[in-house]
Amino acid sequence: MDASLLIPCSHCGAMNRVPSSRLAEAPVCGLCHEPVFAGKPIALTAADFDRHATRSELPLLVTGTFGKGRTVAWTSDVGPHWLPPGFIAWSGYKALFEQMIGWAAGE
Ligand SMILES: [Zn+2]
Repeated sequence: MDASLLIPCSHCGAMNRVPSSRLAEAPVCGLCHEPVFAGKPIALTAADFDRHATRSELPLLVTGTFGKGRTVAWTSDVGPHWLPPGFIAWSGYKALFEQMIGWAAGE
């Protein structure tokens, strides 16, 4: 049986169950028929943060600044026991973490 992930649509916010094996196939939302993934970071609002933080099965990346300080919160592990194999095999996986850490370090 194929594992699946519960993913909020980046367009309308509806929750979509997507088989892990089909994540790279540009899944579309069952409600609005737009692509589930925006292909870019989504700026969440207070109104939709809880849905992404508590219902989505995707890792959540939150960044913030305070004065000269920067912080990054990644709501998952970076290893294969939490992330889907397709995410780890993604060509941008290494760059994501390098850039995330570099940004937090002020580079
Ligand atoms: Zn939608």
